[in-house]
Amino acid sequence: MSILENKEQKFTSISNLGEFGLIDQITEDIKHYHKTTIKGVGDDAAVIKLGDLCQVISTDMLIEGVHFDLAYAPLKHLGYKAVIVNLSDICAMNVIPTQITVSIALSNRFPVEAVEELYAGVKLACKHYKIDLIGGDTTSSISGLMISVTAMGTSKEEDIVYRSGAKEKDLIVATGDLGGAYLGLQILEREKAVFMENKNMQPDLHGSEYVLERQLKPEARKDIVEMFKKMDLKPTSMIDISDGLSSELLHLSKTSDLGLQVYEEKIPVDPTVMTIAEEFSLNGVTCALNGGEDYELLFTISQKDYDKIKGNPNMTVIGYMSEKNAGANLITHDSKVMPLTAHGWNSLKKNDKD
Ligand code: ADP
Ligand code: MG
Repeated sequence: MSILENKEQKFTSISNLGEFGLIDQITEDIKHYHKTTIKGVGDDAAVIKLGDLCQVISTDMLIEGVHFDLAYAPLKHLGYKAVIVNLSDICAMNVIPTQITVSIALSNRFPVEAVEELYAGVKLACKHYKIDLIGGDTTSSISGLMISVTAMGTSKEEDIVYRSGAKEKDLIVATGDLGGAYLGLQILEREKAVFMENKNMQPDLHGSEYVLERQLKPEARKDIVEMFKKMDLKPTSMIDISDGLSSELLHLSKTSDLGLQVYEEKIPVDPTVMTIAEEFSLNGVTCALNGGEDYELLFTISQKDYDKIKGNPNMTVIGYMSEKNAGANLITHDSKVMPLTAHGWNSLKKNDKD
């Protein structure tokens, strides 16, 4: 008898746990049988020791209707993005990605030309980032398109940066600017709703180019990893910002077993993001904290390395690591101390996605 047929058993709804709670529950008793497994579950990528080098591996899946809507996500962009989200996790380990595998599940409403379009995006990302596409799997699907990518890279063990590793008083740094991808999605959703009401309406996307690009064609910050190597800088901890800054800060705080204090006024938000946020009666900083899909990097550095990043337009110091008891807080413009909460893309909790 399948577990689902057992009428006696009481079941727990997955939404009670949320995505992170569920992952914790199903992975807490995982044992490793090989000394070569240096890092398993719990970071942006797993790390396997192979002789003098380590292989770093990460996998992510995009599902139609959860992560994208084909009404507004062009297939080529989707293929590109599916690769990027995985490269971003390898970069978050301070490693340059080198290979991917791509698996797709297709429904029969997909003509060959559509699959070719999707792959044009996959290949473009491979070309931009010098990635070898080395395999995958193709299957049919009864409920829309799924695309799963596994990305790999190799590195010396001592160069790998984990989510854990931050020390008290380390500076917290974010790359690029945040919140744009979330607003890009809000615009696409709004224009889709307008179109559904009146099929003659043309989408009004004027002035939204930046945030639409952030949503539809994100980039992985491989350039930052290259910059670290040139600067001779090794962050003490790092994570990519895929689920909103707040959620990632909490990961760093938890895995490094420290508190952290982040200043609202320091969070990098592009002026166009601020303006568009207002159109939606939102605050740009809230979009940065609780939105998602920016694929920037969040890292910590020792204060003695500050001079290496000082004045770098790609990097903004937003706060510092503190003792654990201080908690993980946002210091607002008016000096209020607000505990950070993660209600980013928690797909398995109601109304959200990851
Ligand atoms: P990211 O946002 O960086 O892609 P996730 O939040 O998806 O990371 O995953 C967190 C960690 O949990 C990762 O180490 C990932 O490999 C692991 N993980 C996620 N889902 C599963 C699963 N179903 N089984 C085993 N490990 C998982
Ligand atoms: Mg990640």
